[in-house]
Amino acid sequence: MPLIDGKKTAKEIREAIGREVTELKAETGNVPGLATVLVGEDPASAVYVRSKNKICKELGFISLEHTLSEDTKEKDLLALVNELNQNEAVSGILVQLPLPKHIDSIKILEAIDPAKDVDGFHPVSMGRLVMGTADLAPCTPSGIIKMLDRYKVEIESKHAVVLGRSNIVGKPVALLLLHRNATVTICHSRTQDLPKVTREADILIAAVGRPNMVTKDMVKEGAVVIDVGINRVDGKLVGDVAFDEVEPKASLITPVPGGVGPMTIAMLMHNTLKAFKAGS
Ligand code: NAP
Repeated sequence: MPLIDGKKTAKEIREAIGREVTELKAETGNVPGLATVLVGEDPASAVYVRSKNKICKELGFISLEHTLSEDTKEKDLLALVNELNQNEAVSGILVQLPLPKHIDSIKILEAIDPAKDVDGFHPVSMGRLVMGTADLAPCTPSGIIKMLDRYKVEIESKHAVVLGRSNIVGKPVALLLLHRNATVTICHSRTQDLPKVTREADILIAAVGRPNMVTKDMVKEGAVVIDVGINRVDGKLVGDVAFDEVEPKASLITPVPGGVGPMTIAMLMHNTLKAFKAGS
């Protein structure tokens, strides 16, 4: 089966980070620190933050966990972010999205020191991403590139088609592919004759959030298919790609779960280590 094993790749990356942290601790006595901020009780967000904190500790990072109530005021959250910006033990700050409606997410993300912006969502980080000079690229997109590299997928001169144009996946992954000299097409809900466009893809990235939307008639024989989608159908996790019918046509394909998902947290740890090294 031409499977890209994101779980295994993410584990290898985490283990390499863990080894580097042990060495850094022996040399300097210091380790990276990740501060997570969770506001409210969204169950999915709570699960994500818990697993981020757990992996942090496994890798020997300092993990600072801030759990705030749903009715936290915007000014109090801003004050916490400023405090974390000043805290030398904190290499990276992650404010879990979505935030409650009464809080302006953009304002909060912009308050994070770009040097500690391990999610890569600050406008300064985004600007650097456009210019090709980003140190801290968004985690899911950079995890996708890392997976392609690990599986020796050639990117240069290939036609990459990205389904979705969100700021957290579609746009940044398209930019990363462009910087690697792919020819990139970005599709969205207004794209006409989507199957015609996707059938031209050597590398097809689906980041739409619609279960099983990418069917076999939309995929070229031998394409590399990366499924970013996480959708819950009848209590089961499924991607944006109709896996069973697309898999026989693909030269490589990511499963859901066990594909892109585990890479996201691994790249968060990678960014936190990078931010630590840049600041020390
Ligand atoms: P999003 O912000 O909702 O963006 C979805 C994009 O898909 C939009 O650009 C939208 O177009 C486009 N789209 C929607 N319906 C379409 C259609 N019928 N044809 C073509 N394009 C269509 O979603 P997101 O945050 O990027 O996330 C996408 C998926 O990835 C979700 O399932 C999410 O859960 C998952 N995800 C996974 C990870 C991970 O770690 N594995 C991380 C982040 C997200 P318009 O712009 O025109 O509306």
